[in-house]
Amino acid sequence: MALPTTDMQESGSLKLTFQILINAVSQAQLAICGKAVNMVINLPKKVKYIIDKITEAGYEAYAVGGCIRDSILGREPDDWDITTSARPEQVKALFRRTVDTGIAHGTVTVMQDGEGYEVTTYRIDGEYEDHRHPKEVLFTSRLVEDLQRRDFTINAMAYNDTVGLVDAFDGMGDIQRRVIRCVGCAEERFGEDALRILRALRFSAQLGYDIEEDTRRAICKLAPSLEHISAERIRTELVKLLVSPHPDYLRQAYDMGVTAVILPELDRCMETPQNHPHHCYNVGEHILHSLLGVPAEKDLRLAMLLHDIGKPCTLQTDRRGITHFHGHPAVSADMAREILRRLRFDNDTIVKVSRLVEFHDYGNNVTLTPAFVRRAVNRIGEDIFPGLFMVRRADIMSQSDYQREEKLAFVDAWEREYRDIVAREQCISVKNLAVSGKDLIAAGMKPGPEMGEMLQRMLEHVLETPEDNSKEKLFEIFLKLT
Ligand code: ATP
Ligand code: MG
Repeated sequence: MALPTTDMQESGSLKLTFQILINAVSQAQLAICGKAVNMVINLPKKVKYIIDKITEAGYEAYAVGGCIRDSILGREPDDWDITTSARPEQVKALFRRTVDTGIAHGTVTVMQDGEGYEVTTYRIDGEYEDHRHPKEVLFTSRLVEDLQRRDFTINAMAYNDTVGLVDAFDGMGDIQRRVIRCVGCAEERFGEDALRILRALRFSAQLGYDIEEDTRRAICKLAPSLEHISAERIRTELVKLLVSPHPDYLRQAYDMGVTAVILPELDRCMETPQNHPHHCYNVGEHILHSLLGVPAEKDLRLAMLLHDIGKPCTLQTDRRGITHFHGHPAVSADMAREILRRLRFDNDTIVKVSRLVEFHDYGNNVTLTPAFVRRAVNRIGEDIFPGLFMVRRADIMSQSDYQREEKLAFVDAWEREYRDIVAREQCISVKNLAVSGKDLIAAGMKPGPEMGEMLQRMLEHVLETPEDNSKEKLFEIFLKLT
């Protein structure tokens, strides 16, 4: 059915066509456009209030998208989005406090006791440009047309207490079948917006769902178009995938040609064998397994993703065919910095993750003494130390079981020493040295590089002999005072 166009505007480069059908969608029409399913979803009070207020004014309103999917799955929704037949100015007229979040796309944020709820007018996305943005946005009065523009069937359901669940594309069926399926023609949907490729992979990893066959084929075909997606968007989706219950589903991204575009370094790892008694997987598979061995925290999962990323560059195969990767932690740390910068990660993440990578193998085959561990904590930085033990265990657990018990026992010994140092509050950095720069000045030393060197020498001494960490003792030894 052709929709009558009643309004047309130009706003910046975005051409807007507001298509408004004033007739409300009745229950009968709903039956044609989508199924209303008897199901009760517990809407939060404020969401219900907003929906009721819009409905009382004669428009339609539903909670829609991710919040409905998550409610059905028993997950706590991050946010509640509302979709409505009312136009933005009609929504604004109904509420005391609103924010013009994205009027051009029909979105108004309704404020309730300091909390914002996005209310968006039913919308059809027009033709897409640059593999990401619709050139024009058409407003419609038909809910089903709004649901049709959404990416996956599980994200294309709407609900309110009066009508129940509107599920026009069998999102419930796909939840039961545990599949991610595009709404409509997968190839067209990914062609419109390549970000959906990463969203499909990320939802698959978050929910443990398969990607339906047509959707999968379309991803394989259109993966190269991800080059048009901004680094920030790629980063966001990659992190969501990594901190999901199935971070190893990144394997699908490799299989479908997605990492070839967003993380080609991983592809090199997937193609690099490890012929060594300590290993049972190639480098890439070892990395994917290791992701499962650390808690679902961004820095730890990134550290596992990147801990061996430099191995392909350091590969040497000896006469017996055994593979070696000398110096790979330092190379991996350099590559980690470069990759994280390319994906526009914040500085704190770059510094922390690259240090975890750099030291993931540190101090293997040493005789562990308390002094060695104190020096290591000083050098590596106390902040990443507890995480480093997790990284090391995850690394070991994704190697072959050759000497596994011994390797784990060695990490346990490290950790015991470390905990002991912390419990005894032993000095492991200049900042907890008993002597400060001020003390040295008071003792007659001139500020300057010499002072820093003196503090460093005192620290080296205290790392060896923690009981000497008192002003008297250090002055006695280093300033020859009695
Ligand atoms: P999460 O909040 O976990 O990131 P979500 O599905 O809720 O997942 P949002 O970005 O909050 O994602 O988007 C809300 C809804 O908007 C989605 O459920 C989906 O219906 C729709 N949507 C979001 N991004 C797209 C897209 N790129 N293409 C089509 N529809 C989308
Ligand atoms: Mg959401």
